[in-house]
Amino acid sequence: DRIVGGQSLEEDMYVQPSVRPQIITDYIGQQAVREQLQLSINAAKMRQEHLDHVLLYGPPGLGKTTLSNIIAQEMGVTLRQTSGPVIEKPGDLAAILTRLEPHDVLFVDEIHRLSPIVEEVLYPAMEDFQIDIIIGEGPAAQSVKIDIPPFTLVGATTRAGLLTSPLRDRFGIVQRLEFYSVEELAQIVTRSANILGMSAEPDGALEVARRSRGTPRIANRLLRRVRDYAQVKGNGVITAEIADSALNLLEVDSLGLDKMDRRLLELLIQKFESRPVGIDSISAALGEERGTIEDVIEPFLVQQGFLIRTPRGRIVTQTAYRHLGLTMPERNLE
Ligand code: ADP
Repeated sequence: DRIVGGQSLEEDMYVQPSVRPQIITDYIGQQAVREQLQLSINAAKMRQEHLDHVLLYGPPGLGKTTLSNIIAQEMGVTLRQTSGPVIEKPGDLAAILTRLEPHDVLFVDEIHRLSPIVEEVLYPAMEDFQIDIIIGEGPAAQSVKIDIPPFTLVGATTRAGLLTSPLRDRFGIVQRLEFYSVEELAQIVTRSANILGMSAEPDGALEVARRSRGTPRIANRLLRRVRDYAQVKGNGVITAEIADSALNLLEVDSLGLDKMDRRLLELLIQKFESRPVGIDSISAALGEERGTIEDVIEPFLVQQGFLIRTPRGRIVTQTAYRHLGLTMPERNLE
């Protein structure tokens, strides 16, 4: 459970009052995605049709679930929420689909984890709003088509590349969420601080933002930790000094790297002497699952320019050396 991990932790789930934006104007950043969606939503409403199926992809904690809530809210329909691994059998999915009201939004998180037989049910459902149901058993079994209401599937995944192409092709709207800028995260921190009834000075909000790895979920989590520190050690106000001390105590450094990130970079520098290293060797040396490294640790290090993915393996950059206070050996500079 990394405090700077983008995945949802137990502590994020019961935050009261909720800081999750409910309307599109409260959804900060992702301007291109917001504008595109707003346009499609307005067009669908004018035609009194369902919205085209939407695929949202990007690292965890960037606002995919939040956006699906907002899509349903903007369309004025009900949101049904489920996730790939939860739908075990074709019948589970059929039960969800037949209970939808026209134009409802069905949000499927981790859609890349649907089993192939469940995915088969989804194809005609997405394309023709029909599902095939098998009635009876053995030689008497018959396939019957039944109609389902036109609906919008909003699928979320950490990587679009994990989706099968027949599934990916059935989404009319495909949007990639990007990491947030420090300024956008500072706005999110300020908004959340207001909702939680505390005050954050602009520099305090910026300090939390800088260390949040471009990820709103992390920003909100760090804010809650800083709040505790501000109440116990200060007068409750989040200043830059308070944020800095609180986050140093949590071993979250000035750019939001934690021990895990530093271990990965140090491993590449020391053990592998900055040579290109394959993901499986990294996974074995760190004792971390390959998927966790690829989805949770690496994207931010790559985005920050600490790490480069090449066909020959991962390479650490001079920026990483500098951040760790190390000097890059001459041979690597060539
Ligand atoms: P994902 O589904 O991509 O993992 P979520 O939608 O659950 O991420 O977002 C995590 C948290 O971050 C939400 O609870 C919400 O409070 C906050 N959040 C996400 N995106 C935004 C945004 N654009 N503006 C403000 N807060 C956001």
